[in-house]
Amino acid sequence: MVHTFECLGSAFALDTESGSFFQIDSAVKEIIDEINSPVVLSRGEFACLTADANGGDGENRPTGDGRKAADANGGKVLERGTLPPSPCVAGVDGRGRESFCADASERAEAKREVDALIERGVLFSPRVDPAVSKFSGVVKALCLNISHLCNLRCAYCFADGGAYRGKEANMPLKTACAAVDFLIERSGTRRHLEIDFFGGEPLLNRQVMKDAVRYIRRREAETGKVFQLTVTTNAMGLDEDAVDFFNREMYNVVVSIDGRESVHNTVRKTVSGGGSFDVALKNALRFKEKRVGLYYIRGTYTARNTDFSKDVFYLNDLGFDSLSIEPVVLPADRELALKEAHLPALFAEYETLAAGYLERRQKNPAFTFFHFMLDIYNPPCREKLTKGCGAGCEYLAVAPDGSLYPCHQFDGEAAYRVGNVLDGSFSEEIPRLFSGVNVLTKAACAGCWAKYYCSGGCNANAALIGGNILRPDPVSCALMRKRIECALAVSAIENANT
Ligand code: SF4
Ligand code: SF4
Repeated sequence: MVHTFECLGSAFALDTESGSFFQIDSAVKEIIDEINSPVVLSRGEFACLTADANGGDGENRPTGDGRKAADANGGKVLERGTLPPSPCVAGVDGRGRESFCADASERAEAKREVDALIERGVLFSPRVDPAVSKFSGVVKALCLNISHLCNLRCAYCFADGGAYRGKEANMPLKTACAAVDFLIERSGTRRHLEIDFFGGEPLLNRQVMKDAVRYIRRREAETGKVFQLTVTTNAMGLDEDAVDFFNREMYNVVVSIDGRESVHNTVRKTVSGGGSFDVALKNALRFKEKRVGLYYIRGTYTARNTDFSKDVFYLNDLGFDSLSIEPVVLPADRELALKEAHLPALFAEYETLAAGYLERRQKNPAFTFFHFMLDIYNPPCREKLTKGCGAGCEYLAVAPDGSLYPCHQFDGEAAYRVGNVLDGSFSEEIPRLFSGVNVLTKAACAGCWAKYYCSGGCNANAALIGGNILRPDPVSCALMRKRIECALAVSAIENANT
């Protein structure tokens, strides 16, 4: 499967199975597109078959006039009567670091280059599904919903203002410690473990979070395990004390701000209905000045700000270099939901964002947009790309009452409850179900060119929108694919310039 696309004024081709990625001339794009989908050309010309995409001997090679009939079975179409000028193909072999360059003055030369790449197995390479390891029962990471309280009432909140379908509550220290012990016990021989402090708003249970971290450090010393900690906060309580604590203990801090004041205040309101922007921004700026280590400013865009690149650039102008703005996930009947009708504007917006991102990074290479950070030379291993985030099997969430769920978004969903860290109950049914869900087992993903970049999307979002973890939401998929195209283009252009 080869996906061709245009982005930022250039054309590209991605060979899904081999991972090879090429910046291509429009003539080469045309050739590949014809192979993908033989077409009747304008002026009554027929595209011509030269080789069988499935490894045939190319018996139907044209005789030279470029006017032979196209392969009715969808074979490769590599030649036609009219030759566009100067095709060029240059790229990266996904199986190692290697480049292909070919300049040619004629389309026939482009065809030879495409043929050579097919021969080398880096274009139209056959589907070879990676072996996916069986359910092992090992848990590597936990999300601690340390507080089911929140001082905001965001209009798109998936957590019902923090309470997650249940009642408001803070996690007691005893439960947090039991969760840490659960993770250690379930981690087998794995040494490096992760815990995310999440909510609600974790700082509304600050002392328990601090005491839990103290317990984690003690258990590290006792067991030899190493914990990497992350916290996500809405910044409303991000005072000096919290900043110092996070600098000491948190590998990564995610701070939620949506962008421009009007955008943020429209959706991120306080419990009393006021805007939260002033407090959140003041605290986030102080945090940034003092932050030692990784952080992200993470925002959400909705149907109200489809011009979200302005929010990214606004935050960057304020001095935040590590940014992530993500599409809201809501059922289509909600006012803020992103719908199919928004897609053309959103696609254009991602291109605007990518262009501005490249420009800004020339002056400030520290500026990162999370979803554009793709290393086309060093992708993660294929099995990891097949399985995605590991929620439900390698990664679980713990509610304040100790209940275990596949991830924080399932908190409170009785049908997805896995067990409880306090009473030691643990059913493997849900973890086994989730461990079998990947891009090879989801029907929509198996034939999707983006599968090894997307990894099958978010199961929780699929359940929320489509009622089935196996059925990804088409709007989310369309946005994911556009985001990946932009990320690939950004990566290719930056690599070409270094
Ligand atoms: S800060 Fe988070 S938990 Fe609180 S209302 Fe907003 S989205 Fe929900
Ligand atoms: S974009 Fe959608 S269909 Fe494609 S891999 Fe991701 S979740 Fe699956």
